[in-house]
Amino acid sequence: MNSKCEIISVGTELLLGQIVDTNASWLSEKLNNIGLNVYYHQTVGDNFNRLASVFEQAQKRSNIIIVTGGLGPTEDDLTREVAASLFETDLKLDEPTFQEVQSYYTERNLTMTENNRKQALFFNGGEVFHNKVGMAPGLHFEHKGVLWFFLPGVPKEMKWIANEKVIPFLHDKGLTEGKLFHRILTFQGIGESALETELLDLIQEQTNPTIAPLAGNGYIIIRLTAKSNKEAEAIELLDDTEQLVHERVGDYFFGYGDQSLDQQLIYLLSKHEMTLSACESITGGQFASTIVANKGVSQLFKGSIISYTDDMKEEIVGIPHNLLQNEGAVSEACAKLMADNTQRMVDSNISISFTGVAGPDEVNGYEPGTVFIAINYNGETKCEHYHFSGDRNQIRDEAVQAGLKQLIHIMTS
Ligand code: ATP
Ligand code: MG
Repeated sequence: MNSKCEIISVGTELLLGQIVDTNASWLSEKLNNIGLNVYYHQTVGDNFNRLASVFEQAQKRSNIIIVTGGLGPTEDDLTREVAASLFETDLKLDEPTFQEVQSYYTERNLTMTENNRKQALFFNGGEVFHNKVGMAPGLHFEHKGVLWFFLPGVPKEMKWIANEKVIPFLHDKGLTEGKLFHRILTFQGIGESALETELLDLIQEQTNPTIAPLAGNGYIIIRLTAKSNKEAEAIELLDDTEQLVHERVGDYFFGYGDQSLDQQLIYLLSKHEMTLSACESITGGQFASTIVANKGVSQLFKGSIISYTDDMKEEIVGIPHNLLQNEGAVSEACAKLMADNTQRMVDSNISISFTGVAGPDEVNGYEPGTVFIAINYNGETKCEHYHFSGDRNQIRDEAVQAGLKQLIHIMTS
């Protein structure tokens, strides 16, 4: 069956903006995860005629309909009555529910008012889903081939009945079509429309997995979505499609979307068989620590020199005394030379340096947050000048992330 699901949220409070419809978003995600298509969300107040017209419309265009709210005992709870009239059936008393409602009142020495009987009514010819976390049961009715489910509005009860009763019911009927599995591929160095053109026939023809290009922040992202009941099968489907994508635009691929910047960089270094070294002042080894947190980097990362003071910069890294005197340690000239000298000393393909002011005081007239990051790559040295904000450690974190971005950018452009 090509599922067309609809979710109807009942309650005037929703229309007044007094509560947010979290039920619909939760249910939608659940249904999508088991491969069902949700095409409509509707919200309607506690009004007989409007409720009736919303139900009639849903009956015509959808084949699985989940209604939440309006099942309680009070006058404004009309869901049951409206649905019974659409289904042309009457309401019957469900004995187990009625006994539960009665004992709730007797245990508390309360008198049960007549309207509480209403909570135990169900559709003649339908089914009752008893609820372990509250009194109100869920109801099911099949009307002219359309499956209707009615759940209490209280989110905790709604979720319990959906998880324990409705979803297993849909599974048993063979209506679920498997879960959705996503994979995000990231590309750089190619425009979105060029990439889409390369993949156009695949995008149009492929149904499982589907291929969707999305604009990322400075990158192009492709989302592959496979539908399957088995994870292993989904992974195989994703692998096959990823392979097809690689054959077309693999040169621009630089990683998976759920990877952090350091993982992306390591991927690029290993892909191009390149080595990296660093020379750190302001970051005090944090760049090295971020890289080394990943396994398998010993072939790619040579190490980092932490030259925090001017003395260290002069004696270990070979920054001339007069440069430190005239330009200062926080300068483009110093950053570039730190990267160049480190590259030469350790013979790495790429070398990055960090120098700046972490604060709280100014240095050489530079405010805290000023950072120079230089990269020596392919016989060229490029330096970027940043102004970060925050406390010392935020500035150092930002510097590390900016350095990673700068490296990824240089290696992919
Ligand atoms: P009860 O038997 O408790 O009256 P009911 O099925 O009649 O349940 P409602 O009266 O519509 O449900 O809602 C009960 C409460 O559940 C609401 O006051 C609200 O806090 C919450 N609720 C109802 N619908 C939603 C929704 N769509 N999203 C989030 N919360 C909801
Ligand atoms: Mg109610």
